[in-house]
Amino acid sequence: MHRRCLLLAPLALVPPTAAQAPLPVVASFSVLADMVREIGGTAITVAAIVPADRDAHGFQPRPSDLRTVQGAKVVVAHGLGFDPWMDRLVRSANFSGPYARAADGVQARSMDDSHAHDHGGGRAQRHTQGKRIVSDPHAWQDLGNAPIYARNIAAALKRALPAAEHAGIDRRAADFLRRAAETDAWVRAQFAPVPAERRKVITSHDAFGYFGAAYGVDFRSPQGVSTESEPSAAEVARLIRLIRESGIRAVFMENMSNPRLIEQVARDAGVRLGGTLYADALSAPGGPADTYLKMFRHNVPAMISAMAQ
Ligand code: ZN
Repeated sequence: MHRRCLLLAPLALVPPTAAQAPLPVVASFSVLADMVREIGGTAITVAAIVPADRDAHGFQPRPSDLRTVQGAKVVVAHGLGFDPWMDRLVRSANFSGPYARAADGVQARSMDDSHAHDHGGGRAQRHTQGKRIVSDPHAWQDLGNAPIYARNIAAALKRALPAAEHAGIDRRAADFLRRAAETDAWVRAQFAPVPAERRKVITSHDAFGYFGAAYGVDFRSPQGVSTESEPSAAEVARLIRLIRESGIRAVFMENMSNPRLIEQVARDAGVRLGGTLYADALSAPGGPADTYLKMFRHNVPAMISAMAQ
């Protein structure tokens, strides 16, 4: 017994790579933080600036967020105009390590301004703070984009991790992408039996454009691609008329936005809310959508059961 301890003691003094302190990584919001966690594994710790159940649109960083970035070795933002405040935060923190935008390389979907409101000839233009919205940032809602996110995140982590950790990053990224592809196939299989005319969903804001394009679902919402925009009374009235005329039953609130507007839409249209969809933020740990892939496993059955009513 005593002898074994003597034999083991010198081994414990050799610092194996795994015993290195995990690399502190900051991600802008909870969905991205989960992808970073998947790919970084135990080699990293990750903090999300915008936590679960909170809205990243128009987020105002606090002094504590500045300190979080200052303590990080890698920072991962989303890009595509989703989290422009991250650029300012990284600059203010004088952060000089790897700074990646996880959605770099995504085929950005242009926002169809007439999406929620206009069908046919007339062009309805939506403005946010005087600017016309041109691109839709919610690209993670199409699982087909997962390889782009994974590649950008893995590259950023490798820039800050020792070479001995790189194989682990690649292995975990491959495993994550295998499960993302499985989830993608599962989503398609869930929607396959649903007739096209039933595949209509109303949500608080236009967060599901990529999802709709990938999986053949028509999403409408009173708000635009950012929760910062406020619809006019006429736009809300048009949406209510659309719900009544098309017999849409799937009306959902989102976990991170104020439910007041969508509750009013549902009430005025005479439909019951179908529950909560997770779009821009995960649920808190232990909740129904506390990982990126679980978000799909929650949202899709919720949509389908409301469509079937
Ligand atoms: Zn959004």
